[in-house]
Amino acid sequence: MVDAETTLKSMSQPSDAITFANIKGRAALVVDVHSTGGGRAVDIERATNGAFGHQPMHLFSRWNELREIVPTLRAAASEAFVAGDLRAPAPEPRQVFGIGLNYRAHAAETGVPIPDSPLTFTKFASSINAPHGDIRIDVPSADWEIEVVAVVGSGGRKIPESSAWDSIAGICVGQDISDRVLQRATQPPQFGLGKSREGYAPFGPWLVDVASLSNRDALPLTCTLNGEIVQQSNSNDLIFSIPQLVAYLSSIVELFPGDVIFTGTPSGVGAARKPPRFLASGDVLVSTIDGVGSITNRCV
Ligand code: ZN
Repeated sequence: MVDAETTLKSMSQPSDAITFANIKGRAALVVDVHSTGGGRAVDIERATNGAFGHQPMHLFSRWNELREIVPTLRAAASEAFVAGDLRAPAPEPRQVFGIGLNYRAHAAETGVPIPDSPLTFTKFASSINAPHGDIRIDVPSADWEIEVVAVVGSGGRKIPESSAWDSIAGICVGQDISDRVLQRATQPPQFGLGKSREGYAPFGPWLVDVASLSNRDALPLTCTLNGEIVQQSNSNDLIFSIPQLVAYLSSIVELFPGDVIFTGTPSGVGAARKPPRFLASGDVLVSTIDGVGSITNRCV
């Protein structure tokens, strides 16, 4: 499941960052990352004698408390895990937001003007996949979209842009897999279903706490397809930054702990290639954010 490329790229995750993982449904603090994409982690429920539960979704409303006990957790007994044990860090969010056309070069390649406000859609939660999960390809128009994924911590309504990072728990690498035909099957288009087929929302491999991410406003992204770079950009090129997205979304809806925001993809998607290139069985996507980690998804 994890190839040599992943091996190299997973090392881009800094050892001093506070990193939370969902290991087979249990919340864990990652204390060591191995070149295989696995590593060692501390089970949070066991290490806190039950003060924190095992369910990853229950951590996000207590994120600041959790940050405070990280030194204690680091000193606790750790267990080995492998890449295949990892599940989505926020597996059952109440809301999953997707943002379209949020990089200038991607807006240009799709031939659409730069939007005045964030183009927002939902990915239904049933599309959430494990970070290294296989993606079932049932249609000839499935496309890749590497994205920075932000997971909400405290959340709320009417969050000011200036304090928006404080309401975010952490950052993951995600793929907003998209069925381009279904995405545009109606007029006007409704993206939700085309973005929500089975397995179309892998993210992870873990969640890096925003407080320990020195480059949270400038995250380098790279997506390879079968070893060839197809997307390469930096989140400092986002049209609407993550704090701006949080301020905008929370001006309309309440953001809940553990909500997931797919923040948009840079240029290089398959539909914009000449000729177009869509995903097929046997393809392998490796999506990397420097300082966060890599996810590997095989198309089946
Ligand atoms: Zn997207």
